[in-house]
Amino acid sequence: MGLDLKIENIDNNLQNAKWPILISGPCSAESEQQMLSTAIQLAETGKVSYFRAGLWKPRTRPGAFEGVGAKGLEWLKKVREVTGLKISTEVAKAEHVELCLEAGLDMIWIGARTSTNPFSIQEVADALRGTDITVLVKNPLNPDFQLWIGALERINRAGVKKLGAIHRGFSNYDEKVFRNSPMWDIPIELKRQCPQIPIITDPSHITGKRELVPFISQKALDLNMDGLMIESHITPDIAWSDNAQQVTPAVLAQIIKELVLRKHEGDNPAFKTQLEKLRLEIDQYDNDIIKIISARMNVAAKIGQYKRDNEVTILQMNRWEQILNQRVALGEAMGLSNSFMKRMLQLVHQESIRIQTDIMNA
Ligand code: PEP
Ligand code: MN
Repeated sequence: MGLDLKIENIDNNLQNAKWPILISGPCSAESEQQMLSTAIQLAETGKVSYFRAGLWKPRTRPGAFEGVGAKGLEWLKKVREVTGLKISTEVAKAEHVELCLEAGLDMIWIGARTSTNPFSIQEVADALRGTDITVLVKNPLNPDFQLWIGALERINRAGVKKLGAIHRGFSNYDEKVFRNSPMWDIPIELKRQCPQIPIITDPSHITGKRELVPFISQKALDLNMDGLMIESHITPDIAWSDNAQQVTPAVLAQIIKELVLRKHEGDNPAFKTQLEKLRLEIDQYDNDIIKIISARMNVAAKIGQYKRDNEVTILQMNRWEQILNQRVALGEAMGLSNSFMKRMLQLVHQESIRIQTDIMNA
């Protein structure tokens, strides 16, 4: 079944395409002061169009900070008054929608935990009927494309036309690099089936680590995504939620400066080209290679401990000779050159020895 969504522009930025839609602000609203000081600096970048702050926080385990609730709506309004930024928050229930409409928010988004549940989505959709607020739908936690488009359809059928999607990555038990695997194929398929829907990438929730936010942001722009949602906080280290992934407004300004905006090729977006598809495959293989090398080094460390406990030397020449011969032959059988295989194995072996030496000397 094809995807038939009726979409209107959610932002003028999309029309003149000067800069992708940029949504930023703290994971959670904590105090009026925290919101205002963050927002004032975000507004100074001149590139942020929406301020975000979670008021109702869906937490995985009970006992964590569950948000300040409706009183944060007043703080959001103050942010708009002082900075001129548009204001937004996450909704999960009809009651949240009603409170946000009453407060006159410019945009609301539906979180990943909510978009997994068609009952909740329908409840939110019903509460939105007859309004024209902008709504963004995050992908569900699990990599289920149908569930994501089902959520978009329910909201769209309730009459919401200023509609967009947020790609925040997918839970994956195997993933070690990112908090949520990006699985770019899924947003790309959404774009293919519905080219008019804006897709905003959320590098903060994909990476879970602030150091990786620029990398995923650039990737999103290179794949012609329409915008970014990046969590920012005036003092990220002491944030009440998601502290490892938030950046200061100053760091955000730097990220914006360093991002490269490449030219779109008319109606033929770059991500559709064969080159981009092949690059995604390479990215995936490189991810896998790094994960596997890291797992191999962990085993080398265990061997190092075992050797230390049993007072055995690190280097056993016959074992190394055997590895070298067997692996080089295996590599050659798979089309890899003898010299590449030797150099690669030597590098890996040197790193194992370095790790084991550290253990011996610890
Ligand atoms: C958030 O945006 O802070 C949030 C809770 O995100 P997600 O729904 O993507 O987990
Ligand atoms: Mn968050």
